[in-house]
Amino acid sequence: MITTDILIIGAGPTGLFTVFEAGLLKLKCHLIDALPQAGGQCSEIYPKKPIYDIPAYPEILAGDLTDKLLEQCKQFEPGFTLGERAETIEKQEDGTFIVTTNKGTKHQAPVVAIAGGLGSFEPRKPLISNITSFEDKGVEYIIKDPEIYRDKKVVIAGGGDSALDWSIFLSDVASEVTLIHRRNEFRGHLDSVEKVQELKNKGKIKLVTPAEVINIVGHHKVEAVVVKESKDKHIDKEYEIECDHFIPLFGLSPKLGPIANWGLEIEKNAIVVNNALDYQTNIPGIYAIGDVNTYPGKLKLILCGFHEATLMCQSAYQIINPGKRYVLKYTTVAGVDGFDGTRKEAPKAVIKAID
Ligand SMILES: Cc1cc2nc3c(=O)[nH]c(=O)nc-3n(C[C@H](O)[C@H](O)[C@H](O)COP(=O)(O)OP(=O)(O)OC[C@H]3O[C@@H](n4cnc5c(N)ncnc54)[C@H](O)[C@@H]3O)c2cc1C
Repeated sequence: MITTDILIIGAGPTGLFTVFEAGLLKLKCHLIDALPQAGGQCSEIYPKKPIYDIPAYPEILAGDLTDKLLEQCKQFEPGFTLGERAETIEKQEDGTFIVTTNKGTKHQAPVVAIAGGLGSFEPRKPLISNITSFEDKGVEYIIKDPEIYRDKKVVIAGGGDSALDWSIFLSDVASEVTLIHRRNEFRGHLDSVEKVQELKNKGKIKLVTPAEVINIVGHHKVEAVVVKESKDKHIDKEYEIECDHFIPLFGLSPKLGPIANWGLEIEKNAIVVNNALDYQTNIPGIYAIGDVNTYPGKLKLILCGFHEATLMCQSAYQIINPGKRYVLKYTTVAGVDGFDGTRKEAPKAVIKAID
């Protein structure tokens, strides 16, 4: 059982900034995210895009913003359960909540902050009738640990940045990489497309286009995929490509998912909160902040998530420390005491006569 003060569901920008604000109040946080890395939409959908409306950053790449948020909250030593989806929540007699993930990991906290954004990202699966029977037996929709592909034969399907980038990366890890796409044109960064072209010319990536995988072959695990290649409009060629792994990278679609069944008030796929006070939901002790919530005038912007996280932490403090008063102090005045023993503070004023 993982225990903490505030259990945050979603390690996007809102969840990460919550760790910092909670840390200032000496509250510990643990984050759960269905994705294998932190950053939410910023790292999963648009890491290389510049954002222009983060206060004090005239321009910052979404991936760099994630790195900065991780750096800022590191001193408060957050715990992470990554690559697991928060599935169920149970209220205990002592008022705490137990949240269990799809992999069975249990977390207990007096306060739960749902920072789930548009929901947990579910992979878009290709329409191959027997694909589900090969999941985790050679079929993976998200690459969590590239090392499992070392010296293996890998077939990747897709035509976007993920398919291009992972083909490039795995060309140095796997013994064979085949990239299959239903069109000849790829939709990705120009430098990635050019790099794949270069690796194809060097024989490090096999490119099969326009084509699609129509079946998977194997006893207990993937042994080959059946490919339908359409070199000519009238001539389709079907053949098998031997492989150990088939990785369809067709993007991820967000779904509110299991959180929708937690008894929370939901309006148009978002959680209704009390925005006049503290972003608490209809269940006391459960807050919803960032893109996942709704209230009159709601804007799905990163800076709004930061604001909501800040107010929410003040309210959570009262639940965790009943009866204790918290007096807001500026970080410039009070400094910041990290849970890792670090201390940041502005230089002290000195009293010194000037002749
Ligand atoms: C292309 C694009 C460009 C954008 N540009 C801007 C911009 O310029 N400026 C701006 O302010 N905003 C922009 N946005 C919006 C911005 O990205 C969002 O407002 C922001 O990401 C919301 O942060 P969040 O932390 O609330 O949610 P998210 O970033 O969506 O993170 C939520 C996380 O929760 C996880 N999660 C959800 N449910 C579960 C569950 N049950 N279990 C485990 N994990 C779960 C998800 O996997 C996800 O990682 C843009 C969005 C897109 C798509």
